[in-house]
Amino acid sequence: MQTEKHIKCVTIRVASGLVGWYLEAFNIKALASNWNVIYIQKRWFDDSTTINHQLCHTQQIRDDGLFWMPIKYLWYWLRYGAEENPYEIQAKKAEKRLFINKGNL
Ligand SMILES: [Zn+2]
Repeated sequence: MQTEKHIKCVTIRVASGLVGWYLEAFNIKALASNWNVIYIQKRWFDDSTTINHQLCHTQQIRDDGLFWMPIKYLWYWLRYGAEENPYEIQAKKAEKRLFINKGNL
């Protein structure tokens, strides 16, 4: 079974170990890391919506920086909540149109 693929400079990797446990425990589909790796639960590995969402987060990290993006994300999360976090609003918009569609997977 395929557990890793690459889209441009980003690696999409099925989460295992502690990260896999964390995603499963908190019901999180995937997580964009600061090192251009998206960790994703196995059942979402071919889901273009989830991957586009996370690719947008990797772009946000590149745009705002490894240091500031997580701090701003946390600040927005505390101030606006998860749904109104500007990073999440942008990522939700990207879900259907960014980078890939089903045919590319
Ligand atoms: Zn998100």
